[in-house]
Amino acid sequence: MRFPFALSAKIAGHIIKHKLRKTPKFAMVLQLEPLHTCNLTCTGCGRIREYSTSLKDMVPLEKCLAAAVDCDAPMVSICGGEPLIYPKIEELVAGLREQGRIIYICTNGVFMRKKMRDYMAADYSPEMESKLQELVKAELVTEKEAEQIRKSDAAAKSKVVIRPSQWMYWNVHVDGLEFTHDLIVEREGVFKECVAAIKMAKILGYQTATNTTVYKETEVKELDDMFAFLSSLNVDGHTISPGYEYDAAKKDMVKRLGKQPEDFFLTRKMTRQKFAKIQEWGEKFTIFGTPVYQEFLAGKRELTCTAWAIPTYNVKGWKAPCYLMTDGHYDGYQEMLAKVQWDKYGVVNGVARDPRCENCMVHCGYDPSGALGTNYQRGDNWKNFKYNFGAKPKPYAASEELTKRAFNGVTIGKGHLAEAKAAINSPRAAMNGAQAAFSRKEESHSHEAHVGSHCGSGDTSERDALLAKIAATKKD
Ligand code: SF4
Ligand code: SF4
Repeated sequence: MRFPFALSAKIAGHIIKHKLRKTPKFAMVLQLEPLHTCNLTCTGCGRIREYSTSLKDMVPLEKCLAAAVDCDAPMVSICGGEPLIYPKIEELVAGLREQGRIIYICTNGVFMRKKMRDYMAADYSPEMESKLQELVKAELVTEKEAEQIRKSDAAAKSKVVIRPSQWMYWNVHVDGLEFTHDLIVEREGVFKECVAAIKMAKILGYQTATNTTVYKETEVKELDDMFAFLSSLNVDGHTISPGYEYDAAKKDMVKRLGKQPEDFFLTRKMTRQKFAKIQEWGEKFTIFGTPVYQEFLAGKRELTCTAWAIPTYNVKGWKAPCYLMTDGHYDGYQEMLAKVQWDKYGVVNGVARDPRCENCMVHCGYDPSGALGTNYQRGDNWKNFKYNFGAKPKPYAASEELTKRAFNGVTIGKGHLAEAKAAINSPRAAMNGAQAAFSRKEESHSHEAHVGSHCGSGDTSERDALLAKIAATKKD
């Protein structure tokens, strides 16, 4: 099965329960943002920018757990910010499990190995030794760390930790192969760390997924390679969503200067071109979501946004109307459902009810529409059932060639920052070197939006800021 039976059954039960009760609107996935602090500053992350004045604020543990009860979504995606920075992340995961929820920890991967070492230290016994040795051999744990795990003291043993469970997924943010991913997260080595964390998680028996946002310049070929590589690591599934960000200033330029929308936005037409292969990917790889949403992305049908089904809760409350746009925050989920005029949003039969929705096809607005049957077509339920309960695609065969294609950045000396710094250090090279380094981004991965399955939305034409940052580093 693509998705474990117990989890599929839980979600199906939730939908059936509400359909029988004729509940007009209900939550499927809670996007819980306990904090917006992050260890990275990804180009264009909307979260660390939109909530820049409350970056130090956190949602208390009790409020996080109460929010899950309030909307009663069967799945909770803990995002942020970087959720592994949240001081009570272990207690939060444990509390949500006690409530019987399916949990996704949406992480940039940097602290995952540390959290898994905590688990090993808490549970260490001689039975774990073979796994520990396997991790040391694979250079995923150092000898020194292994020794600390073996000698864990009472404090380490009594710590609340995140243990492998069929109800929990690590959901690692991966937006491309090494060069691209490190460029987007603005730090060399992050892709490599994500891969190490995924490998360690798989050895320890954690369920591990990835989430990818597709940008205006993302190349389809690279996505093919990325899925093949992640599949070869035995990743359990992938979420993929088009990036999107509405920017009034850019929209104004379209109007006033006669520019084309596609100069700025990932338009619906462009999204459909990029996702033309999504159904093929769905056959080859374990892509999460419904085949109905995949048909929508591929341009084969229309759907109506059901943003209320994936609500976001954060330091300011329930964010409305959706993960991307903020027209207000509410104290309770039911209050938000009652007060927001939902029929003002989304695109119906190709006509945007709100101009900001015009080019949006993101998973948090439309993936639940596929599951909830809001634009039901005959056979949809069977299609969704067959897809989720059908056989899981076999992992892609690992090969040296594939690994080489994946590690195409700093590992082979082509890190974007090193390249750009070198260019800036050499006045002659600066004429073309820095530009060349970044033109790779412009050609293939500078993005208008950083939105979607991981964290954040926001304006992203920040290449100049990134160059300035590097220039400043040089002065230091
Ligand atoms: S996109 Fe995610 S990982 Fe990147 S800065 Fe934003 S919160 Fe952090
Ligand atoms: S169409 Fe997109 S931007 Fe508009 S309300 Fe739905 S999810 Fe939000």
